[in-house]
Amino acid sequence: MIRMKNFIKAFICCIILFISPALASDYVSNFERIPAIQNRPPQVATWKRTPTVVVCDYAPVKKSEILAAVKFWEKLGHPFYRTQYRYDPLNKCKSTTPVGYIVVHLVTQDLKLEDDSLAETHFFVDNDHNEIEWAVIYIKSETKETVLEHELGHALGYLHHNHINHLMNSKWTQGGWDTNGLERHLR
Ligand SMILES: [Zn+2]
Repeated sequence: MIRMKNFIKAFICCIILFISPALASDYVSNFERIPAIQNRPPQVATWKRTPTVVVCDYAPVKKSEILAAVKFWEKLGHPFYRTQYRYDPLNKCKSTTPVGYIVVHLVTQDLKLEDDSLAETHFFVDNDHNEIEWAVIYIKSETKETVLEHELGHALGYLHHNHINHLMNSKWTQGGWDTNGLERHLR
């Protein structure tokens, strides 16, 4: 457990080295692939298995909001196994490595979120296969429009794309519902 925590912390520095800090403020990952500059949001990895979404106790997300956000990504071709709202029989909310799951939490005090950050997503990649093994989304307060969808985008391996109105814009005020490049491609 402790080792994994250090591992993630160790990679905070590296993402900032690879990508300018302003663009890397709301996700943390260990991916090694450096995305090419392209006219669409880069996707650095995809899920190994179809993920289950779990909203944990205290996460400031309504059931209708998570269902809408999951449906939004399903319409873009991304499959989810199921969505569990405050129902966690396998204790994934307490796991630091919830393999196969996207876990949604209220932000905790030991997570040092920047003041203007609304949320942060951590996702762990098996770099041998470019596959995502687990993701954890931390939400700060009541959800603003597009924030949950944006963080789910990180949980699906997408990075930022700073075009006005794009869902994956790193600045919430400049983002929107543009989904250009977020359709799942079959490889
Ligand atoms: Zn982001």
